[in-house]
Amino acid sequence: MPGVEVVANVFQGLRQAHMIWPLGLELQVVSGPVLVLLLGLILSYLIDYRQRLLALLLVAAPVLVSALLYGSTRLWFEPMSSTLALAVAFVVLQWRELRQVVRAFSAERMRATVTLRTLAEAVITIDNDGSITYLNPAAAYLLGTSSARAVGRNVDEVFRAVDEERGRVFSFLEANNDIDRLPNYWVLDAGDREQRTVRASFARLDDPRPGGRGLIVTVTDVTQERHLTRQIHYQASHDPLTDLPNRMLLADRLEQAIARAARANSNLAVMFTDLDDFKKVNDSLGHVAGDALLRAVASSLNQAVRLEDTVGRLGGDEFVVLVEHLRNEAAALTVAEKLAAAVRKPHKISGQEVYVTTSIGVCFYPKDGKSADELLRNADTAMYSAKAGGGDAVAAFDQTMKQNAIERFTLEMDLQRALVQHELCVFYQPVIDLRTGAIVGFEALIRWRHPRRGLLLPGRFIPMAEQSGLIVSIGEWVIRTACSDLAAWLKDCDEHLRVAVNLSPRQLQDVRLPVVVENALQETGLATGCLELEITEEVLMSDAYGGISTLNRLREIGLKVAIDDFGTGYSSFSYLKRFSASRLKIDRSFVKDVTANADDAAIVEAIVAMAKLLRVAVTAEGVESLEQADFFRRLGCAEAQGLYFGKPLEANQVRRMLRRVHLGRNQKESGSSGDGSKPQVFTDSQ
Ligand code: C2E
Ligand code: CA
Ligand code: CA
Repeated sequence: MPGVEVVANVFQGLRQAHMIWPLGLELQVVSGPVLVLLLGLILSYLIDYRQRLLALLLVAAPVLVSALLYGSTRLWFEPMSSTLALAVAFVVLQWRELRQVVRAFSAERMRATVTLRTLAEAVITIDNDGSITYLNPAAAYLLGTSSARAVGRNVDEVFRAVDEERGRVFSFLEANNDIDRLPNYWVLDAGDREQRTVRASFARLDDPRPGGRGLIVTVTDVTQERHLTRQIHYQASHDPLTDLPNRMLLADRLEQAIARAARANSNLAVMFTDLDDFKKVNDSLGHVAGDALLRAVASSLNQAVRLEDTVGRLGGDEFVVLVEHLRNEAAALTVAEKLAAAVRKPHKISGQEVYVTTSIGVCFYPKDGKSADELLRNADTAMYSAKAGGGDAVAAFDQTMKQNAIERFTLEMDLQRALVQHELCVFYQPVIDLRTGAIVGFEALIRWRHPRRGLLLPGRFIPMAEQSGLIVSIGEWVIRTACSDLAAWLKDCDEHLRVAVNLSPRQLQDVRLPVVVENALQETGLATGCLELEITEEVLMSDAYGGISTLNRLREIGLKVAIDDFGTGYSSFSYLKRFSASRLKIDRSFVKDVTANADDAAIVEAIVAMAKLLRVAVTAEGVESLEQADFFRRLGCAEAQGLYFGKPLEANQVRRMLRRVHLGRNQKESGSSGDGSKPQVFTDSQ
C-alpha cells in the first residue's frame, strides 16, 4: 500500500521534528492537552449547540483517523494524546451542559404546570380527532367535570359551544381549519351547569409526532361582563319608563327597515303618534298617574300591532310605530285607525278609568321620503295636521302639509325676533255703552307688522306663541303697552275708560303674572279698575293649566275678570256663581244671526237674563249692524263692541278719536242736547 507508506513517512518526519516519543513522557504531552482543553472550553461556549456535533466530529475525526492509521501502520501520531484529551473534555463539558439543560427544563415544566393549575383562564387541549387531552383545574371547574373524567372523551360529549352572535354550534373540526376567523364570544353549555358566556382564543398544536397535533383553547368566563355590557346597551337603547325602543334604536330599526324595503322593492309606513292634551292628564292627575298612563298607552299600542312591527317612544307623549310589508297605503291607515282605537279605550290608572285620544300622522316609504330622518319628519308633520284638526284623528302625509310646516317654522323663527324688533303692536277696539252710545273702554288686540307678510292677525301667530311659550313675554308686553296707552289717552280726556287685555292659558300658569299686572298699573298710575282681563270660557272650565288660582289672586288685588267667548264653553250656572266673574262677553257666533235665528236669539236672551241674576255685566261681541245693536239694547244688554261701532284702531288713532269725541261732547254740552240712545259709530277718520 504505497499511500499508507507515504502517510507513515510523513508521520515519521513529524515525529522526528517534534521528538515526542513515547506517549505521555514529554512536556508537550502535558501542555498540549491543557491547551486543547482551553480551546475546547472556549469552543463549546462560543458555538451553537447544533454546531457542537460538528465540533465533536472535528475532534473525534483525527482520533479515529489516528486509530485507523495506528491499526494499519503501527505508527503513532504524537498530537494524538492532545486530541484524545480534547475529545474527553468535550464530552465532559457537553454532559454538564446537558444536565443544566435538563434541570432548567424541569424547572420550566414545573412553572408551567403551576401556572396552568392556578390560572383563572380555562385551558383545554384537544387532539385532531376531537378528544380532550388536557384540562386545567379552571377548565374542569368551568365545565363541571374533572380532568380524569374528561380526558380521552370527545369534546362534544363534554360541552357544547354556541356562537353567541349567530347561534351556531361550534365545530372543532372547522375551528382547526380557520382559527383566525372564529367568533369572540361563545355560550358554553356543559350538561346541567348554568350556561356561561365565554371568550375563547385558539392556538394550533403542530407537533408532527403522533398525537402532537390539535388545538389549545384558552377560555375566559365573561358571563358577568357580558351581562353588564348587554344591560348598558339595553339601557342606552330603550326608554326606561315604557321599555320601548328609544329614539336611537328606533332610528336604527327604521334604517334597517328602509334597507330591507329597498332590497325587496317593498314599502313601509312610519306612524307618528302624539297624545291629545296629555298635559291635562299630567296636571290634573299628577305625574305618577301620567307615567302610568304612558305605560298603559305603550302596551296598548304594542298589542295593536304585529310582533314584527316596532313601537318606540320618542319622549314625552310621542310614540312612533313602524309597520313593514303593507299591501297598500289604505292598509297602513287601517293600522293607524287601530292604534287610535287602542289608545281611545279606557285605561285603568290607580283604580280609575282614564280616557285619552291621540293624533296620528302616517307617511310611507318610498313615496313620502327615502331616509329615516325625512320619514320621521314627514310623519310628524302629518301628525301636526291631524292635531290641528282637533285631535283624535289620523292624517296621511302630503306635500302641502310640508309647505305649511315650513311656513309655520319660518314664522315661528320670525316671531322670536318680532318682539325685540318692535314688529308687534296693539290695536284697540272700542266698547260702547248701548244706552248712551259713549265709549266706555277698549279691547286690546295684538297685531304683527310682518316685514314681508304685512299685518298679521293674532289667529296666525298666537297659537304658535302659545306652543313655544313665547306668549308669556308677548302677553306681558301687551299688558304694559295697553296700560301705558290708556294712561296717555286719559291725560287728554278725563273720561272713565278701561282697557281689556286677553290672557292666554299659558300666562295664567306664570306665577309672576300678578306682579307683572301690578307693576304695569303702578308704572302708569292707572287705577286697578281700569284694567280688565279676559279669559275664554273654555279655559276657565277646563282649568287645564291650573290657572284659576292665579285668577283668584288677580281678583283679590281688585282686577276685573271677563269671561270671553261666552256660550261656547258649557259653563254651568253654579260654576259661574262660584267664580264670580265681573263680565260675560257673548260670543260672536250667537250675535251673528241673532236677528234672523230664533235659537240664537233665545240663547242670547238667556245669557243676558242669567247675567242680570248673577249681577254680572254683559257685553255683546261682534255687533255688525244697527239691527243687532238695537236688539241688544232692547234686551237690556249694557255694552257692545263690533265692526258696527268701530274696528280695532292703532293707539294714536284712538287718541285722535278720543280727542274729537271729547271736543264734540264739550261742544254739545254748551249747545243743543243730542240723542244719547242712538248708537254712534267710531272711526279714526270721522
Ligand atoms: P277675541 O278676544 O274674541 O277678540 C275679538 C275678535 O273679534 C278680534 O279678532 C276682533 O278683531 C274681532 N271682531 C271684533 N268685532 C268684530 C265683528 O264685528 N265681526 C267680526 N267678524 N269680528 C270682529 P282678532 O283681533 O283677530 O283676535 C282674535 C283673537 O285673538 C281674540 O279673540 C283673542 O282671543 C286673541 N287675541 C287677540 N289679542 C290677544 C292678545 O294680546 N293676547 C292673547 N293671548 N290673545 C289675543
Ligand atoms: Ca277677547
Ligand atoms: Ca271673544
